[in-house]
Amino acid sequence: MSGTASDLPRLSHTLISALREMLPESGGPYPLHAPEFEGHELEYVDDCIKTGWVSSVGSYVDRFERDLAAFCGVKRAVAVSNGTASLHISLLACGVKRDDEVLIPDLTFVATANAVTYLGAIPHLVDCESTSLGVDAAALDDYLKEIAALRPEGLINKITGRRISALVPMHTFGHPCDMEALSALCERCHLTLIEDAAEAIGSFYHGRHCGNFGKVAALSFNGNKTITTGGGGAVLTNDEELGALIKHLTTQAKVPHAFRFRHDHIGYNYRMPNLNAALGCAQLEQLERKLTLKRIVAARYERLFRKVAGFSFVKEPPYCKSNYWLNAILLDRSCAELRDDIITALNENGIGSRPVWDLMSSLPMFKDCPRMPCPVAEDISSRLINLPSSPKLANLPEPDGV
Ligand SMILES: *Cc1c(COP(=O)(O)O)cnc(C)c1O
Repeated sequence: MSGTASDLPRLSHTLISALREMLPESGGPYPLHAPEFEGHELEYVDDCIKTGWVSSVGSYVDRFERDLAAFCGVKRAVAVSNGTASLHISLLACGVKRDDEVLIPDLTFVATANAVTYLGAIPHLVDCESTSLGVDAAALDDYLKEIAALRPEGLINKITGRRISALVPMHTFGHPCDMEALSALCERCHLTLIEDAAEAIGSFYHGRHCGNFGKVAALSFNGNKTITTGGGGAVLTNDEELGALIKHLTTQAKVPHAFRFRHDHIGYNYRMPNLNAALGCAQLEQLERKLTLKRIVAARYERLFRKVAGFSFVKEPPYCKSNYWLNAILLDRSCAELRDDIITALNENGIGSRPVWDLMSSLPMFKDCPRMPCPVAEDISSRLINLPSSPKLANLPEPDGV
């Protein structure tokens, strides 16, 4: 049986009335993910303004980097201007070169693909698995055995003749990818592992924070992420030498000196201003609390969707603890073509909702990129719907029977 337009009123009604148990009309509208500033934000920003330390150096930048590294359990965190800059500098520092191919998920936010192209490298699109929504290690392994060969200069794509130099898995909505399998694959294939952990602060794989598995990892603190600095990002690494290089490159590669301006590399102005880091310090203090609240919200959705026909809730993979950055449901396959109409109905009812990103392979800039068959990414992207996920939704009254 295939879903038709006549199923739309029934499905929308089922979904909206179920969600009303959790998201009462009186409390709305409910944005998808609203920033929440409930700690020392004003005090710290005020301090920056009063002392004049608003820009690219200052004590909050140092403190944010220290506190962030401690929370994530990494040796070094470098605060940068945004998550996209973090991905760019991560790829650069890991030695990705012009005309290299970089394996990235077809199902990701466009920044992952854009950052690869900033280096003149070529995104090579790979499929995801339905459990984590992240890169499918087993399917990728089979595919690489077929199309690539390990030579002294690295892994070579036998079809294009180019070097495949890195893999950038992305932890979709905060659900950790299967990092054990992906790390093993990268080791066997001589690929550099770089994590796009932009959505994954506070997510753990086998008890280890995301971002600890790659040579480097990128975080984002954009306004819609779990914690925000307005705009911002960070690079995480356990390689202190690489961390120092990244700090240097993101600060115009200026050689320290009392007054001279001397630079020893082509550098970037990718610093996080002290004002934004002040916000970040205050947000980090509240991170544990936000994560607890976000898991309460996810648990409510999970229980709610056990009894809603036509939809299934996307749960964290069994081996992990997700931050549940964005909650997601999958529409039954037979009704996938009604996705946009259902999203429209949700938004009209004050329930912030959106589809997952269009696949990279469907975008004009990336449509000719090399790509493995991606049946799972195609399936997921056709029927996934994100739902309101702000921490404060946990403060709404608990739905009956949940
Ligand atoms: C948010 C995000 C980014 C980019 O972060 P910005 O801070 O917006 O530049 C990169 N990758 C993914 C998967 C993201 O969700």
